[in-house]
Amino acid sequence: MAYSAEFRCIAGCPGGYPLDQVIYRCPRCHDLLEVVHDLAALRDRSADAWKRLFAERWRSLDEPDGSGVWGKHEWVVPQLARTHVVSMLEGGTHLTPVPKFAAALGLGDVRVKQCGTSHSGSFKDLGMTVLVSMVKGMIAAGKPLRAIACASTGDTSAALAAYAAAANIRAVVILPRGKISTAQLVQPLAAGALVLAVDTDFDGCMKLVQELADREGVYLANSMNSLRLEGQKTVAIELAQQLGWTVPDWVVIPGGNLGNVSALGAGFEMMLALGLIDRRPRICVAQAAHASPLYDSYRRGFAPLEAVKARPTLASAIQIGNPVSFAKAVRALRAFDGVVEIASEAELADASALADRDGLFTCPHTGVALAALTKLAARGEITRDHRVVVISTASGLKFADFKVGYHEGTHAEVPAPRYRNTPIELPEDYDAVRTALLRGL
Ligand SMILES: *Cc1c(COP(=O)(O)O)cnc(C)c1O
Ligand SMILES: [Zn+2]
Repeated sequence: MAYSAEFRCIAGCPGGYPLDQVIYRCPRCHDLLEVVHDLAALRDRSADAWKRLFAERWRSLDEPDGSGVWGKHEWVVPQLARTHVVSMLEGGTHLTPVPKFAAALGLGDVRVKQCGTSHSGSFKDLGMTVLVSMVKGMIAAGKPLRAIACASTGDTSAALAAYAAAANIRAVVILPRGKISTAQLVQPLAAGALVLAVDTDFDGCMKLVQELADREGVYLANSMNSLRLEGQKTVAIELAQQLGWTVPDWVVIPGGNLGNVSALGAGFEMMLALGLIDRRPRICVAQAAHASPLYDSYRRGFAPLEAVKARPTLASAIQIGNPVSFAKAVRALRAFDGVVEIASEAELADASALADRDGLFTCPHTGVALAALTKLAARGEITRDHRVVVISTASGLKFADFKVGYHEGTHAEVPAPRYRNTPIELPEDYDAVRTALLRGL
């Protein structure tokens, strides 16, 4: 394949590094790296030819072409041989209309991109299939890598453990002992990951995993690793494809470490550069009010990041006070005329429950995005003639406690759940059941 991509420093230091080199940060200035593609080579196919190729592969029975990520292989990690690809047919997720939700907000066309309808239940699969496939290729080429490690406790570790198990590579999850519930860890435990519970906090785990990566031949899967963003980028391409290669007016996405919004921006930029679309959507990043350093910066004209101590939130996957990909996210927001919104616990829980009434089962992070959309609609910033796509990041099935607590009314921060629904308890008596039925319909 004549297509190629390499790592480069986001601060613009000279030099590129092969994608199969073990490197996480710029060796000159220590800033983040990003994957840069040879766009001139990709122009050997016209925009229409790319669209036809992507359409042929969309949900194809041929593996891994039917994967939403590997159907776009040339735009993701072009030099990786197909034989190393570790895929579970991730991506290709539904763009579900939510007409009742939209009507309640006074909006017209609102759809939810269901990235959580995926192998391990979150969009993290889209990045992890790429990272694990690259490591499989590196091991096959003789690189001395013993395992892949991360310090996440939620969706990243679940995705890493699953894809590493499928690739027959050891996965290591490092977590602060006593601070994580077994339920949060059951996916990596089930997949046979080596789980190390260390007497420290999350930052301590992060430090340890980085040192292991530097010294012990363990590959780092945390989100400073920009390989993951190349897979996540396909969400932008998919949703444009699903809209007949048109661009929505707005995309609303929840943000924590801010890798996913950076990937979203990168996907749209690549489509623009190669002529598949002709304009940018506006982007709204939605943060939990309990963990909103990007919002604070946005309010001050994108002032430099001031790390905060994130408070507990129902949206636990975005309880992050010092986001790794802050600089990339600000760059995307500036390019996409972006805004940042926040949601309280009650706002995110009610928005999530309202969207469920359209047949979804949304996670709390999706609730944060839906609550942000509610606010933008109320302010008149988003109106009835705008087409909106909300990125749903995980399956609500992974967050059963959140749902149960909402409908049982037991979340302290959501004292009056607006869309609460509880069972009507009845005796075994036809008239009583009939009365309840007629009253309830
Ligand atoms: C990781 C994650 C996010 C946040 O993505 P970032 O790239 O860290 O901004 C949001 N929702 C869910 C469910 C996640 O797992
Ligand atoms: Zn640099």
